[in-house]
Amino acid sequence: MESILQAEAQAKAKYNADKLAKRLRHAVGDAIDHFGMIEQGDRVMVCLSGGKDSYTMLDILLSLQKSAPIDFSIIAVNLDQKQPGFPEEILPTYLEKLGIEYRIVEEDTYSIVKRVVPEGKTTCGLCSRLRRGILYRVAGEVGATKIALGHHRDDVLETLFLNMFYGGKLKAMPPKLVSDDGRNIVIRPLIYCREKDIVRYSEIRQFPIIPCNLCGSQANLQREVVGDMLRDWDRRFPGRLETMFRALCNVAPSHLADPKLFGFKNLTTQETPYADGDIAFDHEPIETEVPATALRTISILDKRELNRCAS
Ligand code: SF4
Repeated sequence: MESILQAEAQAKAKYNADKLAKRLRHAVGDAIDHFGMIEQGDRVMVCLSGGKDSYTMLDILLSLQKSAPIDFSIIAVNLDQKQPGFPEEILPTYLEKLGIEYRIVEEDTYSIVKRVVPEGKTTCGLCSRLRRGILYRVAGEVGATKIALGHHRDDVLETLFLNMFYGGKLKAMPPKLVSDDGRNIVIRPLIYCREKDIVRYSEIRQFPIIPCNLCGSQANLQREVVGDMLRDWDRRFPGRLETMFRALCNVAPSHLADPKLFGFKNLTTQETPYADGDIAFDHEPIETEVPATALRTISILDKRELNRCAS
């Protein structure tokens, strides 16, 4: 009996793992397609930090590469910044096992940052500027046409709120951009992927994760607070993060207030109905598309509420 139950549990776990892998592959495939991230003949430099996100990105891209209708090559690149205790052998061992092309770049940015940034000040700003410059240079050296970064949907939403709360800007992280030196195209293939899916996937795939606190830098408190806020919303209002992300893909410049995006000054009346017109004096009705998970939660809550009222 026990062995039957065990077999059932294993079959269920495998079914769920396959479903998750499929969901992530679809999400990455859709993002690549929607934003034209990878084209025929591209050489994609996958930036591998040793964290869950970059391992997942590499894994999914390698899997998509096998079935893609176009040919593209992948080279994994890790930057060893010489933080004390960085386990140098983990990534080469992993990548050798995969049998893919890779390069480990050794640059002691850790010492530079420690020397230049005063004690007690955050080191992340300078550290990431140095890392970015090195990765751009390496992209040129290895002949990469695209640089792939492992930011996912939740990173994008966090950035949106951080910019609104602290930067006074409606700005998130784009799926594809030209680098600040103008010479590289950066892509974010995980942009449609939920962080919780990536966490689960990296557990299932047992990636050899390298801890990200080796430099001893304090975590970015503002980002942590915003991340907690989003996770809390996700628990309490299922579907909210999906809706917010959809909003980023569905922007109405005529209903914001940036004169650089919309010609407010040149607005004129016209004889025919105006497609972007407003009902001006009323609040616009909000069309809600409530996801199935949310509907289930709402109906459970409704029933509880009704029971409470009846008792
Ligand atoms: S946490 Fe450490 S390694 Fe990461 S960006 Fe900050 S200083 Fe650099």
